[in-house]
Amino acid sequence: MSPVYRSTLVSLAGLAAVAVIAWAAAGAAPGLSVFAAGLLALLVYHVRHLARFGRWVSHPAQGKVPEGAGSWDEVLAALHRFEREAAKREEMLADALARFRRAAQALPDGVVMLDADNRIEWCNDNAAAMLDLDPRADTGRPIANLVREPAFIDYLAAPNHDSMPAVRATAAQGVVLALQLIPYGESQKLLLCRDVTQAERVETMRRDFVANVSHELRTPLTVLVGFLETVRELKLDPSRVRDYLGMMREQASRMHRIIEDLLTLSVLESAPPPPADRVRMAPLLERLRADASSLSAGRHAISLQGSASVDLLGSEEELSSAFGNLVSNAIRYTPPGGRVSIVWSEGPDGVSFTVEDTGMGIAPEHIPRLTERFYRVDRSRSRETGGTGLGLAIVKHAVARHQATLEVDSKLGAGSRFTVRFPPQRMMPVEPLQSRQEN
Ligand code: ADP
Repeated sequence: MSPVYRSTLVSLAGLAAVAVIAWAAAGAAPGLSVFAAGLLALLVYHVRHLARFGRWVSHPAQGKVPEGAGSWDEVLAALHRFEREAAKREEMLADALARFRRAAQALPDGVVMLDADNRIEWCNDNAAAMLDLDPRADTGRPIANLVREPAFIDYLAAPNHDSMPAVRATAAQGVVLALQLIPYGESQKLLLCRDVTQAERVETMRRDFVANVSHELRTPLTVLVGFLETVRELKLDPSRVRDYLGMMREQASRMHRIIEDLLTLSVLESAPPPPADRVRMAPLLERLRADASSLSAGRHAISLQGSASVDLLGSEEELSSAFGNLVSNAIRYTPPGGRVSIVWSEGPDGVSFTVEDTGMGIAPEHIPRLTERFYRVDRSRSRETGGTGLGLAIVKHAVARHQATLEVDSKLGAGSRFTVRFPPQRMMPVEPLQSRQEN
């Protein structure tokens, strides 16, 4: 039997017992009066509790379940228990939601929760920053009013997002975002946004690079095939054949140089840091001067300024390739009669290697792009003088591997100055002559 029935029956039985005693002692009228008064009291008791309960039910404030006595105590205690459990469940849910939001907040991607009408329910800070949303003011607003990229609007309107790839959208300052909708729950969606600017840039570079390499190799190859056809098809006298073979050799050497430079670049990009070997600067500078003279073949005034009292720490192969490229460029882009100077300078803040020329110079808009692969200011001059368009890219990588910087100073028509600056930790005093001989 339920406790409510039991306690009501006990009350009625008690009341009946008292009424029977009153009846026996004083007669029927007092007995019935006691019973009626008891019933009335019982009725008042229940009505009062019912009224209190009704008040609470119409405005159920948490923790304010009314107190009760007797049979109501049982009912209200059960309600108390139920309310405590509900509060605990609510707390657990709030906790789980807070944990989920903290996790979504920690994601490197932007996350926006959208309701069935594509209105913002919640977004993390990354999404707010990427999509320029105000997490407070924009909650409840349709996402289509805030992200206006046409490709995204079409994507949002599409009936099935599951099979669709993410769309690209351009945000402020050229940032490229990949936006993806993931349906969940009844008909809500998660909008994920990721910054793919760097990946897009790498992809564009990769595409350009493949196109450039193909183009650079195709040109000499086409010329080579043309000559081969001519020699095969036509009856030419031996001296013409020799001329053609010479020109074919030139094209083959050009292709060879391009491939060699590409291989050098790929080694520089993927090799572990260069060894910290002693690179003797005095003989290296002398060698560079001699190479410049032989390349110039007397057409330029070549000078070497400064003497090396320190050596460099690094890879001799990489450094002489970088310095050699700068010297060769100075000769190739300086018309006959010009001056080319190799300058070595030492100071407490480091050492610098400079190549200065009085050549054609470079217009300022080209300077930031000079170290890009295959970037040339003067295409025909580069080609005529055997350039591959990769020399300065090699210089940039080689010096960066030695924590050095490359500075370019140039004035169109007046000449250029390329300076490589090394930090003090790359310097090493020259070995005394005696210990060198002992080695
Ligand atoms: P290239 O093989 O064409 O010389 P580089 O990467 O060495 O390629 O140089 C890139 C471009 O920078 C060259 O094509 C040339 O236009 C320009 N350049 C490099 N060095 C000089 C210089 N000393 N004077 C003028 N222009 C230069």
